[in-house]
Amino acid sequence: MARIYLDCNATTPLRPEAQEAASAALALAGNASSVHGEGRDARRRIEDARNSLAALVEGDPEAVVFTSGATEANALALSPEMELRGEPVRCDVLLVSAVEHPSVLAGGRFAADMIRIIPVDSDGVIDLAALDRTLAGCSAGGLKPLASVMAANNETGVLQPLREIADRVHTAGGVFHSDAVQALGKIPFSLRESGADLASFSAHKFGGPQGAGALVVAHCDTRLPSLIRGGGQEQGRRAGTENVVSIAGFGAAVNAAASTLLAEQARLVNLRRKLEQGLLAIAPQITIFGTGVARLPNTTCFAVAGIAAETALIALDLDGVAVSSGSACSSGKVAPSAVLAAMGVPAEMSRGAMRITTGWNTSEKEIDAFLAVWSKLYTSLVQRGGARAA
Ligand code: PMP
Repeated sequence: MARIYLDCNATTPLRPEAQEAASAALALAGNASSVHGEGRDARRRIEDARNSLAALVEGDPEAVVFTSGATEANALALSPEMELRGEPVRCDVLLVSAVEHPSVLAGGRFAADMIRIIPVDSDGVIDLAALDRTLAGCSAGGLKPLASVMAANNETGVLQPLREIADRVHTAGGVFHSDAVQALGKIPFSLRESGADLASFSAHKFGGPQGAGALVVAHCDTRLPSLIRGGGQEQGRRAGTENVVSIAGFGAAVNAAASTLLAEQARLVNLRRKLEQGLLAIAPQITIFGTGVARLPNTTCFAVAGIAAETALIALDLDGVAVSSGSACSSGKVAPSAVLAAMGVPAEMSRGAMRITTGWNTSEKEIDAFLAVWSKLYTSLVQRGGARAA
């Protein structure tokens, strides 16, 4: 039987359109900085991708800086010094939600003692009252904040109220960044509507190739000190010969996702409903996280008390199914999920947490096949006394 890949929040299989564009770019001879025809051909592919991304997020093509991925885009964004709307700005403190990706929690170029963590509630949504208190503390202390809150969580799929956060941060005189990696290409994301001054994206989370990401700024006259200095690529904002192969694939994935966004969203919501009804039919006592709040259409994070998710994951893998426990970015480490811990989930339960994430090529048949495999595995885990039966 063909393998069933249900780990799209870790990385998503390449869309055929992205593969085609990347392969075509791989065959090019030119450097995008060269003025000859070969160079201009490479340049055109990068600029097409820039225009596509800008259109999807309702930003300005000139405001797009291509990077090696979202980790780099986050590191670039989280800078105490920047120029915003042409004016120099110095942010004193970095506010991050407790459920951010490690590349945001690392704090970019902020000193560790200048980072404040804003808690989330039991659904994983940021505690706006706590944000208000922290912002008031910043104002009282004469500190200018840079806040970074993700659009959608990679483990639970839970969405954050970006506009409400942005308005609060702006009222307090701060700057707002959003890691929108898991939202792009799955749900509509508009830079303008989110209120974010800066947003990070990654190609490989929605069918583009690994190795390309972007930071998009809301105002073209925003400048961040470069992380990589050298040549004048990306208007001097990120030196180094562009990864034209991955960037071309990124652009093609954006176009493919944009043209089917709402229909795909509805299709994935239906698959998620089928999956969650099936999981609950097999084991009614499982906990599915974030069901009471807005979530990504493709993400189901659930826990079975009393089982070790790692054991279930390995057994599923042997049966031909790829899923994840907690965040794949921390795979190799069997540590309880920091996201679930921040939501107040007891360690005992979070040890049994698994994440199933679908994508553009996940079919209903695969969900059925997964449920059949899971049902058998769950029964054997219960028989071995590994899980509490209903
Ligand atoms: N932010 C989030 C929310 C992510 O899920 C990831 C990928 N796990 C990243 C940032 C890092 O992206 P990249 O792999 O492009 O560095």
